Amino acid sequence: MTEFALIAKYFQNITDARYDVALGVGDDCALLQAPANHLLAVTTDTLVAGVHFFPDTEPFSIGYKALAVNLSDLAAMGAEPAWLSLAITLPSSDEQWLSEFCLGFGKLARQYNMQLVGGDTTQGPLSITVTAYGFVPKQQALRRDAAQPGDKIYVTGTLGDAGAGLKILQGTLQVKSTHSDKLITRLHNPTPRILEGLALRSIANAAIDVSDGLAADLNHILESSSVGARLWVDQLPISDELAQNMERASAWNLALTAGDDYELCFTVLPAKEARLKELNLACCCVGEIEAQPGLRLQLTDGKPYDLPNRRGYQHFGETL
Ligand code: ADP
Ligand code: MG
Repeated sequence: MTEFALIAKYFQNITDARYDVALGVGDDCALLQAPANHLLAVTTDTLVAGVHFFPDTEPFSIGYKALAVNLSDLAAMGAEPAWLSLAITLPSSDEQWLSEFCLGFGKLARQYNMQLVGGDTTQGPLSITVTAYGFVPKQQALRRDAAQPGDKIYVTGTLGDAGAGLKILQGTLQVKSTHSDKLITRLHNPTPRILEGLALRSIANAAIDVSDGLAADLNHILESSSVGARLWVDQLPISDELAQNMERASAWNLALTAGDDYELCFTVLPAKEARLKELNLACCCVGEIEAQPGLRLQLTDGKPYDLPNRRGYQHFGETL
């Protein structure tokens, strides 16, 4: 199958049409109409076979996750999802693989009313780059540089599940069979916290999505905002699946350092915590922003908590 036949068959109509797309897949550029008084939020993430996923991962999950990680970035800015572009490099035109990939990608795209408006298709080692576009009203974006001393630190959902899922696949963690599906699903099909991000627009000061472990990602907020923080490690939200299969400290360490959870970490002025409660979001308070730089880990009783590796995953390690 040629490049153009492949684009027409798999990518041209993978998503539903949006009213704000004047021209989608098929010309040299897409033509798009952004709403007045909004900023365009744009983000790109690449998934490379062998680096971000095992080469034999089900294509449905690869399609789903390639989109989910980008949606998570839109969520972390409080942006409303709109358009997508997809640059895909394929070893061959394997139609079975492509149709399953498109099922995963299309499912999530339709769920958030996003339209695929363009991309690029090339041959080579499997790699998927998605660019996601969203809208956020001027002045309402949730930025990393807006945390204030005194803010409470919250996280959505539970942390460490995707890290445990990875360990299960790597064979370094054994869990009850009824629990392993849920943990591996958290790794392969993370839920982007889009609705939470939208609801937090007028409530949170700063936000980030947790893709590289809470310690590393919270640290990005701290550095951008020139503040520090105290985290109460025993308040971290740990799922039952994790808690029932690991020592407490091991679960906390996963929550702090393992990647791929795609939950949101955000900071809230104490005066706005009552409004946050009214939203009934699945989230919990895990610490507090302080003026003194640095991240201080402790238990609720005040004892300091020692974390073996707090840096999070970095692609070039020490060399860059
Ligand atoms: P050009 O030669 O102008 O770069 P291409 O031949 O790469 O255009 O692509 C033709 C059309 O198909 C363009 O509109 C492009 O955006 C779209 N397209 C190519 N690959 C993809 C893809 N994987 N997903 C969505 N649209 C794609
Ligand atoms: Mg091209």
